Amino acid sequence: MGLTELQGLVPELRKRGLLPDSQPISTMEQPLRILSTETPHTSYLKISEGCDHTCAFCAIPLMRGLHRSQPIADLVREAAELGIQGVKEINLILQDTTWYGHDRRRLDPPAPLLPDLLRALLAGTDVPWFRIFYMYPSGITPELVELIANEARILPYLDMPIQHGSDRMLQLMRRPERQVTIRERVEQLREAIPELTLRTTVIVGFPGETDDDFGEMLDLLGEIRFERIGAFTYSLEEGTRAAEMEGHVPVEVMNERLGELMDVQREISFEKNEELVGRHLMALVDRLVDDDGDLDAIARTTGQALDVDGATNLCDAVGVQPGSMIEVEIVDSLDYDLIGKVTQS
Ligand code: SF4
Repeated sequence: MGLTELQGLVPELRKRGLLPDSQPISTMEQPLRILSTETPHTSYLKISEGCDHTCAFCAIPLMRGLHRSQPIADLVREAAELGIQGVKEINLILQDTTWYGHDRRRLDPPAPLLPDLLRALLAGTDVPWFRIFYMYPSGITPELVELIANEARILPYLDMPIQHGSDRMLQLMRRPERQVTIRERVEQLREAIPELTLRTTVIVGFPGETDDDFGEMLDLLGEIRFERIGAFTYSLEEGTRAAEMEGHVPVEVMNERLGELMDVQREISFEKNEELVGRHLMALVDRLVDDDGDLDAIARTTGQALDVDGATNLCDAVGVQPGSMIEVEIVDSLDYDLIGKVTQS
């Protein structure tokens, strides 16, 4: 079966008698656009499939084909159902969320774009938190920024992969942004959206990356000071342009550069976390932890996404439940995590 046919897998196995009817597999039987997490109050909603971009390192367009947006009505219905099931946070994902609707923009009337989808989700559901991932920097429009800035239910959290910080590497990677456009975009976003948490992703050791290229990336990251960074060493994907390029960087050099980058980011993350000490923030409780008889809890603020970011550890969390939205006071900070106490549950 192809990736887009997986929803038929369980029915097919049942039809062939290979899976008993009495054995539900809920994660496979719901629409493939809904990806559950281990915390039942958070869910992912995939708003499209495929990708129209041609980043040199990436095999996703080869595997998943061109971009196809899901109709708004289906997405709103699925999000509303998730809300009824108790989901408090929906993470909108696809390969480039800013591209939503662009595959159908020549229709008459033109297909709705991401801001239209966000407005429809706000109007058609009661879900308190929407978080948007994987936004191609050049696709973030003023309309989108205004919406994020003015709608409390769309979290002031932006995941904007830049992939590198050297213009030469960005060109080799076939990315449209350059240092100057990345700087401009970050400046506009921080000015327009108060309390913004900015996350990015970078690749270390793309073929041809020199010490100077890597140094340029470190300088840019040190200057911009993203609140969160996901950094990965380059890995070769068959069939991509990068696989055929010269100058593949030895693994030990990639690992050394990655370590250096993470040292820089750890310091930035710690300093950003320190700035939050004393603040009162809204948080979503993920789970309770019994720490030798003391009831603690793990929660996340609007600036902490599930699985990829740090969390807020709450001591003495009597009275809170997983899935509840509470107010916390940040009392201490670690490199990536925060320590808080419950002030309102
Ligand atoms: S990195 Fe993302 S935007 Fe680029 S081709 Fe791959 S999926 Fe598309």
